[in-house]
Amino acid sequence: MAIIVQKFGGTSLADTDKIKNVAKAVVREKELGNDVIVIVSAMGHTTDNLIKLAHEISKNPSEREMDMLMSTGEQVSISLLTMAIQELGYKAVSMTGAQVGIITEDTHSKARILDIKKDKLLEHVQNGEIVIVAGFQGITKTGEITTLGRGGSDTSAVAIAAKLRVERCDIYSDVEGIYTTDPRIVPTANKLKEISYEEMLELARVGANVLHPRSVETAKQFQVPMRLRSSFKLDDLGTLIIGVEKMEIYKPVTGLACDKSQVRVVICDVPDKPGNASKLFTLLAKHELSVDMIIQSFARTTNNTNDIAFTIDKDDLNKFVGMKDEITSILNPSNIHIDEDIAKISIVGAGMIDRPGIAAQMFETLAKEGVNIKMISTSEIKISCLVEKMHAKQATEALCKSFELEGKEVALVHGTLPD
Ligand code: ADP
Ligand code: ASP
Ligand code: MG
Repeated sequence: MAIIVQKFGGTSLADTDKIKNVAKAVVREKELGNDVIVIVSAMGHTTDNLIKLAHEISKNPSEREMDMLMSTGEQVSISLLTMAIQELGYKAVSMTGAQVGIITEDTHSKARILDIKKDKLLEHVQNGEIVIVAGFQGITKTGEITTLGRGGSDTSAVAIAAKLRVERCDIYSDVEGIYTTDPRIVPTANKLKEISYEEMLELARVGANVLHPRSVETAKQFQVPMRLRSSFKLDDLGTLIIGVEKMEIYKPVTGLACDKSQVRVVICDVPDKPGNASKLFTLLAKHELSVDMIIQSFARTTNNTNDIAFTIDKDDLNKFVGMKDEITSILNPSNIHIDEDIAKISIVGAGMIDRPGIAAQMFETLAKEGVNIKMISTSEIKISCLVEKMHAKQATEALCKSFELEGKEVALVHGTLPD
């Protein structure tokens, strides 16, 4: 029998009625003659609420205890969903990450999966049971509980799918598929029938939080057939995520994402000499602080200094503020400026490769709207612009129009010649 991995996120499990609805979706897959392994997130906003509780007790809780706390959310969902499936008359069993043997690195809060033990999972499957696994969590080789980073249940699902080489990995959510941009922000966004791993990976990295970036990375690496579909419209197949080589591309831009979860830092008047950038970014790396866009200005002739600007996650801001003295002692800047009032707008498309003029079109569209660009970064299939937060919606809407990402009744489909 084929094994299907299904993943249900917090939005699909927000209350007991929704859990019963998910149980029906699971049983439906079993009835089609498949073995089913289900990965679940915590119910609704449980993880946010757990984090809030921790911060009521401590401003800077230890990462080990945070993982211990946050991993409890998924344990509630696995047991309740298993009970709901058993109520429907099917054999089901719940398992935590540790019980499965989802082995991770020992970095708390953002651990990467190193290996997944197959034996116990397959034992239950062979016994005819539907297995319900807690997403987002793992265990280190020394037995410590870890979590994979916010939204990490998607990655748990794809990693299990890859390890067991299953037939399909279906990620169920509260949207009907991947859209050209977040349909909650632009209701006229188009649903995509297909998107390549490469494009989805860029979109997820630049803030389309519909999928955890590492889930797409893993799916790409192991060629896992993956779909994003709705837990409320089970007949809709949603969006298929596949290799770019299988697609014909006619449009330069496939999707757009707007990320308001970053802050910009400017280290002002850093002496322009070899080694300073290296010292700064080595220090940030030592504190496990990931940096996104980076710009270094031309050296000023007057005092031979330049400014180094970069963006970091808002969640890392406290950690960064704690490092300011150390940065000052190493680089002796005139000021460290923090700008929280920013949004990063990115356009993504495999069709951009070797197609000149896309960046110019993006900048011209923003200029016509009177939107100032504070920073720019590009990759082969992505262009990101940092703008003021108050311009985010206007910029998103203008770019969606300019690159034809909205307003059509039919879904935009790669591989179909445009009208
Ligand atoms: P889950 O609880 O199922 O993991 P998430 O909240 O993590 O759900 O992801 C689903 C949300 O992602 C949607 O409600 C939608 O607002 C958002 N989203 C952002 N960008 C996109 C996009 N391009 N296509 C579809 N949904 C998107
Ligand atoms: N419950 C975790 C979170 O809210 C993991 C997930 O939803 O994928 O981030
Ligand atoms: Mg999610």
